[in-house]
Amino acid sequence: ASEKEAALAATPSDSPTIFDKIISKEIPSTVVFEDDKVLAFRDITPQGPVHILLIPKVRDGLTGLSKAEERHIDILGRLLYTAKLVAKQEGLAEGFRIVINDGPQGCQSVYHIHVHLIGGRQMNWPPG
Ligand code: ADP
Repeated sequence: ASEKEAALAATPSDSPTIFDKIISKEIPSTVVFEDDKVLAFRDITPQGPVHILLIPKVRDGLTGLSKAEERHIDILGRLLYTAKLVAKQEGLAEGFRIVINDGPQGCQSVYHIHVHLIGGRQMNWPPG
């Protein structure tokens, strides 16, 4: 299914997602950065030479950005700051794209907040 079809088929919910199994290492992934709060791993369907997902290890209700509360401010900042560190680690000195898809119209298909870090090619604007 296309990204859009997957997103439209996904039901926004608090149910466990595939990312829980990635965090627990039940499902293998290529981890590029990990600390006690954040896990960063390569997207299985890369949209560029570099495509990494950054997620909080504990979801704490943060299924998507639209569900953010004040208690999430620290983890939201940490996700973006970690994206910058990983972009450097990946050699993206010429720039990169950060994306957070939210809800059906935003094309979100996994309801565990994640930051896409995409780079290694010239991006276009507007996005599709
Ligand atoms: P979209 O599917 O429209 O990109 P999201 O923003 O919710 O929606 O992104 C979920 C991302 O998770 C997708 O880019 C998808 O390729 C990625 N993904 C799904 N399963 C895995 C997996 N097992 N390992 C790595 N990435 C995955």
